Amino acid sequence: MSFLKKQLLSDEERAVYRIRRLTLRFAPQLESQFKKYYEVILLPRIRWAFGVAIMVMLAYAVLDHFMIPDLIRREVLLLRLAIILALALGLAVSFIRAARPYMQTIATLVAALNGLCVIGILFVGSINNTPLSYEGIILTVFYFYCTGALRMYMAAACGWFVCICYPLAEMVAGMPPKVLLMRTIFLATANVIGTAGAYFMEYAARQSYALSHQLHEMASRDFLTNLLNRRAFSDKVEILWRQSCRSQQMLAIAMIDVDFFKRYNDSYGHVAGDEVLKSVASVIRQHTRRPMDLAARYGGEEFIGVWHDLAPEAAARIIEEIHAGIQALAIPHAQSEAAGIVSLSVGMVTLMPHQGQKFENVLQLADAALYQAKDNGRNGSVIRAM
Ligand code: GH3
Ligand code: MG
Ligand code: MG
Repeated sequence: MSFLKKQLLSDEERAVYRIRRLTLRFAPQLESQFKKYYEVILLPRIRWAFGVAIMVMLAYAVLDHFMIPDLIRREVLLLRLAIILALALGLAVSFIRAARPYMQTIATLVAALNGLCVIGILFVGSINNTPLSYEGIILTVFYFYCTGALRMYMAAACGWFVCICYPLAEMVAGMPPKVLLMRTIFLATANVIGTAGAYFMEYAARQSYALSHQLHEMASRDFLTNLLNRRAFSDKVEILWRQSCRSQQMLAIAMIDVDFFKRYNDSYGHVAGDEVLKSVASVIRQHTRRPMDLAARYGGEEFIGVWHDLAPEAAARIIEEIHAGIQALAIPHAQSEAAGIVSLSVGMVTLMPHQGQKFENVLQLADAALYQAKDNGRNGSVIRAM
């Protein structure tokens, strides 16, 4: 749920930002954006966790040399070497760009292997009647949870996997049932604490992501109409322009202005004027639904629409539909000389953009077309193909 005041968000937006408590997920669209964001956050943590574990394992290998009885030293050192190799390989792979989307899976596999090798070391000690420090397995489980490198479900999968495998190994090695039971209980307790901690850590990461996403959305949107504001529009259109230049796809750019809107405010009041602006925005929004279309409130009662990859005839049809949509609203405007109802004037330019051309210049042409539409008596459009 959002930290932001509830009344600032619609029910629909609240549903998008809601974190499902059990599955620890957002709604699908935000979930995939969060996954990409979290991948970037977790990558340095994975490298840090692998690096630290390699150092610790090397230090333990030196300790083993002095502390472990001769009988099992070779096997123990081999298992430590296996862990170090797996960690080093995981660390190396983390620097390959193509492997980044799979790093959680890779890190989980390395962590699980790490757990199995630690179990193997304890097993070797047990079957040779030279029991080793059981705390090592608890330490390994906390390593899964506390480095913050694994998502909650991945860390829990590793932790509970070890919690099942360790007692099985000690059972095979012949550990007395009472000791085995106590150790299993301690290990399970460590996992309960770890799972809860990892859950809260990921929940907090999701909350802060949702909050920054909401703030970004709010900073990009016009408060009255919820269309893009001018600043966000400038950023987005810049990207769209470059992309259209590269892919050589048509663009249609329309300046849309409410006719005699000052007179509307003067006769019906500003509150009614605001409602008109919302209605006009909603009609424009209905006709800019494709993912790359842009609709923005450009100024007071001026809007701008940009359609990507649209033939001039299709663009002209969309403008006709917008006019028809406003006409269907039939909002009385007695002071309008263009129609007895609220109407729009539109200036549109359709073009195949090319490098060296500037979007601002095309916008000026759309603006000039809008003035022409006004001169022609308003409630109409002027469309220019470049
Ligand atoms: P034209 O037909 O030539 O476009 O004339 P117009 O009156 O529509 O244009 P003009 O630029 O003279 O006036 C625009 C008006 O829009 C003036 C301003 O009060 C009003 N306006 C701008 N922003 C808002 C707003 O957020 N809410 C309301 N209610 N009115 C606004
Ligand atoms: Mg106007
Ligand atoms: Mg105007």
